[in-house]
Amino acid sequence: MHEERSGAGIGDPATGGLSERASTNNPTHRSHAPFVSLSPVTCSGGMNLVFVGAEMAPWSKTGGLGDVLGGLPAAMAANGHRVMVISPRYDQYKDAWDTSVISEIKVVDRYERVRYFHCYKRGVDRVFVDHPCFLEKVRGKTKEKIYGPDAGTDYEDNQQRFSLLCQAALEVPRILDLNNNPHFSGPYGEDVVFVCNDWHTGLLACYLKSNYQSNGIYRTAKVAFCIHNISYQGRFSFDDFAQLNLPDRFKSSFDFIDGYDKPVEGRKINWMKAGILQADKVLTVSPYYAEELISGEARGCELDNIMRLTGITGIVNGMDVSEWDPIKDKFLTVNYDVTTALEGKALNKEALQAEVGLPVDRKVPLVAFIGRLEEQKGPDVMIAAIPEIVKEEDVQIVLLGTGKKKFERLLKSVEEKFPTKVRAVVRFNAPLAHQMMAGADVLAVTSRFEPCGLIQLQGMRYGTPCACASTGGLVDTIVEGKTGFHMGRLSVDCNVVEPADVKKVVTTLKRAVKVVGTPAYHEMVKNCMIQDLSWKGPAKNWEDVLLELGVEGSEPGIVGEEIAPLALENVAAP
Ligand code: ADP
Repeated sequence: MHEERSGAGIGDPATGGLSERASTNNPTHRSHAPFVSLSPVTCSGGMNLVFVGAEMAPWSKTGGLGDVLGGLPAAMAANGHRVMVISPRYDQYKDAWDTSVISEIKVVDRYERVRYFHCYKRGVDRVFVDHPCFLEKVRGKTKEKIYGPDAGTDYEDNQQRFSLLCQAALEVPRILDLNNNPHFSGPYGEDVVFVCNDWHTGLLACYLKSNYQSNGIYRTAKVAFCIHNISYQGRFSFDDFAQLNLPDRFKSSFDFIDGYDKPVEGRKINWMKAGILQADKVLTVSPYYAEELISGEARGCELDNIMRLTGITGIVNGMDVSEWDPIKDKFLTVNYDVTTALEGKALNKEALQAEVGLPVDRKVPLVAFIGRLEEQKGPDVMIAAIPEIVKEEDVQIVLLGTGKKKFERLLKSVEEKFPTKVRAVVRFNAPLAHQMMAGADVLAVTSRFEPCGLIQLQGMRYGTPCACASTGGLVDTIVEGKTGFHMGRLSVDCNVVEPADVKKVVTTLKRAVKVVGTPAYHEMVKNCMIQDLSWKGPAKNWEDVLLELGVEGSEPGIVGEEIAPLALENVAAP
């Protein structure tokens, strides 16, 4: 692993320290930065891509969004593009340096000072927006505190926090002089594509238009907006629009009637809606999820009509194939590849059985469930199915998850009922997750909805076929009979456990368990493991979509000639 700091000049007293560079034609931003030239960007082909999001793995992560902003940008950089990711500085990251560049951002009726921290890793500029509203809330333990003090509770000032993030991000390409990338130097400049992610970045396109483009800045810049999970939209009181410091012409983009059905539940502003309508391109994390989003109000969460209007493109996520690699995974008892998978998985199963305290017997099929204990993942449906499965099949089931207390209790109660067959581990335990991927015969994925899903990719990487609900990215990534077993779609209603859904889980898991150990199963293990699940393919698809935006100078880099691509698998994650 190598670590680079920001380029010469940033925060370097010898080059002038803090000298004010007034943004005279930008009333809401007052930037203080060492002098940087805004002359044309040194760019040897390729796009200038600026990803913006509330999480970025491994520095901050609660789920798939963080993983995407960790992995996709590095793969885009390897294809010859100049790539930056901007997200909040939630902690004192020891690998990120203070650039000493400061911006003053108007939030509600006051100016807030933000600083920018930076590091350059895996070919990507990682920029952290530093402000007490991020650092003081989350410090010490990022997970689950990014959006609120507890799972399910939001911070009251989230609108202000993410308005600040959007505005602070818009300053970065113009004022940060970044020189670590051997192929590019200087600020990114104005010919950029901003890639916004989820509702927290829904305001960026609005501020781009109101504060910059109407003043002749960022004239050619474009915005892509990616939906990672439609069920979090940023719905707030309609009166809060006044606090966003946006012209009235944007109001209709935010205007949202909460609830299609009468009586109407109330008029709100909706950040996600504005992000979708004000973007130049709308994407999501799998083609089937894109179809589901426009299929109706239940799966489109009342924004289906808006997405039908704008159109939406789905691209399946990749995964970090170096963090998840059965050949060198340090958490496994035995490492294996596709040629040694049968014995390797059997030995890992025995180790897993011993680890969780189940009878050690490689002949008993083992089903694993790993996931956040929230309605989305259907832990209640899974648990309702377990008595029926263990009654009829010689099978063991290991459950791993944390989240809502009511689901944690359910997990524990099923273990108490079937102590020789079921284990419930109610903790976040990364080593155990790896061991379960390797030691299980079947991975159960009972999601009511699943935008893309990482868990099934991890399972396949370790040669573990999934028995999965037929929703979102699970449809795009799991092939019935080849890499897994489909159970059909479960009801999206989070408030009920439908008996029909329980039956689907029971039937499919029983079907899968019967296949375990047969030649057909061994073929499935092989099919799972020989796939390329890395970010390479998805990055190419993203490139095709973003190139269509036609940002000036956005010819693809000459990969492999002028710009040597980074071999992603060989570059250690930070
Ligand atoms: P989401 O992002 O919606 O939570 P994904 O399937 O995309 O779901 O990703 C979940 C990630 O979290 C996977 O890497 C999975 O291995 C991991 N994970 C979930 N729960 C646990 C847990 N209790 N312990 C360890 N890892 C977990």
